Amino acid sequence: MIYLDYSATTPVGDAAIRAIADACKAPGNPNSVHSTGLSSAKMIEADRENILKLLGLDSEIFELIPTSGATEANNLALKGVFERFSPKGKKHIITTQLEHSSIAAPLSALQKAGAEVDFAPLLSDGTVDIEGLEKLIRENTLIVSIGAVNSETGIRQPVEKIARFIKEKYPSVLFHTDATQAIGKVKNDYSDVDMLSFSAHKFYCFKGIGGLIKRKKTVLIPQMKGGSSTTKFRSGTPCSELIHSMSAALSDTLCDFEAKYERVKRLNSYLKNELAKIPDIVINSAQNAVPQILNFSYLGTKSADLQHYLSENEIFISTGTACAAHTDMSAAILMLTGDEEKAKSSVRVSISFMTEIDEIEKLVRLMHNA
Ligand code: PMP
Repeated sequence: MIYLDYSATTPVGDAAIRAIADACKAPGNPNSVHSTGLSSAKMIEADRENILKLLGLDSEIFELIPTSGATEANNLALKGVFERFSPKGKKHIITTQLEHSSIAAPLSALQKAGAEVDFAPLLSDGTVDIEGLEKLIRENTLIVSIGAVNSETGIRQPVEKIARFIKEKYPSVLFHTDATQAIGKVKNDYSDVDMLSFSAHKFYCFKGIGGLIKRKKTVLIPQMKGGSSTTKFRSGTPCSELIHSMSAALSDTLCDFEAKYERVKRLNSYLKNELAKIPDIVINSAQNAVPQILNFSYLGTKSADLQHYLSENEIFISTGTACAAHTDMSAAILMLTGDEEKAKSSVRVSISFMTEIDEIEKLVRLMHNA
């Protein structure tokens, strides 16, 4: 089988497996006050620090709240600050129309609770028009939330620039980024963001673990009540084994990062060039897309039919994102291209440093015969 769906999830790597096995040898509840509990809490603390350090964030300024993944982290970030600040009149939220459903859905729910939501305008390559974004900022703007990398097209947003601009010019406005598709794929300087969400199964760890990183001074209301925790923002017993595994998986993913990145870039440009030679194929990913994600349309063939054809030939790719796989048209491609035909026939191939050239060659051969 040829797996080309790494942006849906990555296989669990040896580093994550070794770390979880090690952590299982320290069985205490991190919330217990006896020595076994304390050593478990200490391990979590070291792992939280390691993750912050790997992301270039100062643990004096930032803290990591372990969650079940990015969906929970995004919900906690948005609902948590809205609940805290909307009674003071801060009800305005700016986002984009390219966000994952775990941003879009909580924002729809918040709209029913009085949130005023605006979408930042996008430039022709799908990146945020920062001047247009600035025009939307007003006195009661609470937060700007922009995903670092779009899961379907790979569009990379200038989050460093946006975060710095907001911090310098509008210090009372919070900036959150959903970095789920960025961490492990590209390096960003996140030091000017206020909050950041991610999921560890996108970087060769288990599903069901991730986190929300936030500035210590950023206050939010916990969304789960009851049960003490090592972090007061997310109650319940933290899974020390998964946190340890996430920390090891991130270290391993970022090890030799440049070499892995260059390899993926070469594979991406080979694939892109070869696909572009096939009549009826249009590449949808813009020049600025991350090399791990390539979106294209095979005009005249429905996305699901192409996916089925490839999967019968043991190649696994996706139509849109795994989380919105049951609609017949890609909303992101429709929005970006304004072309229904392209939106109905688009698919996403996502590759990794583990991808082999002969896997790409087989995909190209099959596309010639599709
Ligand atoms: N944000 C983005 C950009 C994603 O791609 C995903 C997962 N596909 C999520 C959030 C949600 O992650 P999880 O399902 O692990 O909670």
